[in-house]
Amino acid sequence: MKCPFCGHDESKVTDSRNASETNAIRRRRECLQCNKRFTTFETVDISLQVRKRDGSYEDFSLQKLVKGLDSASRHTRISHDQVRDLASQIANELVEKQVREISATKLGELVMEKLHALDTVAYIRFACVYRRFKDVDEIMDAIYTIAPEEVKK
Ligand SMILES: [Zn+2]
Repeated sequence: MKCPFCGHDESKVTDSRNASETNAIRRRRECLQCNKRFTTFETVDISLQVRKRDGSYEDFSLQKLVKGLDSASRHTRISHDQVRDLASQIANELVEKQVREISATKLGELVMEKLHALDTVAYIRFACVYRRFKDVDEIMDAIYTIAPEEVKK
């Protein structure tokens, strides 16, 4: 990552956050030579496959995960930004661990874990919806398709 001001190769990251609605990470960098600051956007390549119980695979989609979690956390204290952070955290952890494939069950568990830490109401709401499905391996299907009126019950 060359400094746009002096062309120096080395910089340090001073701040890092997820850019909205995309799989990009926004980083503030500071050049180690001229100390000027600049921003970069790095796209996380999520080549992650979700394995469903029936053996079929589906591409992991951060946007779908965000959408599902948004529905689950309606009428809770969780904001859209928190949902986005949570989904990004999960995605980033999987990318960092170089996970290429994950079962829908495991992904569902990760979501539950994070939700629980964040907000009990949202967790319970999500857990109720989650458990209503006989086949817990279809959690991804479930969170992708939770209808707002179901979540309210
Ligand atoms: Zn520089």
